[in-house]
Amino acid sequence: MSTTLFDRIGQLVTCAPELGDGSPLGLVGEAALVVEEGRVAWVGAAAGAPAADERVAVGGRCVLPGFVDSHAHLVFAGDRSEEFAARMAGRRYTAGGIARTVAATRAADTETLASVTARLVDEMARQGTTTVEIKSGYGLSVEHEARCLAVARRHTDETTFLGAHVVPPEHAGDPDGYVALVAGPMLEACAPLARWVDVFVEQGAFDADQARAVLRAGAAHGLGARVHANQLGPGPGVRVACEVGAASADHCTHLDDGDAAALADAGVVATLLPAAEFSTRSPYPDARRLLDAGVVVALATDCNPGSSYTTSMPFAIALAVREMGLSPAEAVWAATAGGARALRRDDVGTLRPGAAADLVVLDAPSHVHLAYRPGVPLAAAVWRGGRRIH
Ligand SMILES: [Zn+2]
Repeated sequence: MSTTLFDRIGQLVTCAPELGDGSPLGLVGEAALVVEEGRVAWVGAAAGAPAADERVAVGGRCVLPGFVDSHAHLVFAGDRSEEFAARMAGRRYTAGGIARTVAATRAADTETLASVTARLVDEMARQGTTTVEIKSGYGLSVEHEARCLAVARRHTDETTFLGAHVVPPEHAGDPDGYVALVAGPMLEACAPLARWVDVFVEQGAFDADQARAVLRAGAAHGLGARVHANQLGPGPGVRVACEVGAASADHCTHLDDGDAAALADAGVVATLLPAAEFSTRSPYPDARRLLDAGVVVALATDCNPGSSYTTSMPFAIALAVREMGLSPAEAVWAATAGGARALRRDDVGTLRPGAAADLVVLDAPSHVHLAYRPGVPLAAAVWRGGRRIH
């Protein structure tokens, strides 16, 4: 059984308060970490590190858990850069643009879809992401949704069935008929390929009753719930997420006074996606109000071709700090341990012994540099399950 010692770590972010300075990030200075069989076996001061078969000298740099990107739409075809350019010239974002990607995705062959997804997962890895959730939602028929989830499954167990993304054009006259298809035959075909079910609750997408029907049918097939909630305006998405015990309510941009308290009471993670607000030139969510209400906050990219075409968790961290008032420490926690909470995982997003050896060596002395040096590729090396992937 071979062991690897990561030595001379200038700042180790464990996200385990008891192992470090007592803060949520659990910082350890002058640290070392031992990996055995793909898991973290030991963490502590470098001076007390045990011997190991191999040694990686980190040279005083920062090591942190790999990012957990808990919200991404990576299976699609086509390009919407002209829509982005038009939006930057003043046109407003609506949910309707999704239909363009649906048409391109249906028309693409499976290997084209697979190569887009693989490229984006690789982009993520090079920026430090070691766990990614991938949604369907651009197929919107039994055959095409199942095909998208099969592609997603090549890369992650955290797959999400999002048949209720928008009503596709061929069902435009009968949205309830489409909901019955999603909650019936489409779910039947997709549930074996998914861990989660998600609904876009929004004007122009689905209402509260339709969302309940899909999420409850998903639960009957063993799928956990996630909700696209309150992105483009106020609405019932957050309350539905709380009512069904969803793992996460995502976006949370337009909340009323009771929404934050409801999230805290129900233990639903608020997953904030500031790259979507950046890319649609929209107001950012009030992250401070959520944190003050005791809500667990996660950060994710929302990578998708329409409203947030970035794979970069460091970019989401920089936006969260600059635009949403999170401290650098809060943003890094939300992008690691917070993302893990949004996926109900305790084996990732932390470097406590027993966790997956998913870690990033930053080309920087501290985690603060992720926000302090926006746009700079700081992920010098990335390991997943104890194996170097970048
Ligand atoms: Zn999304």
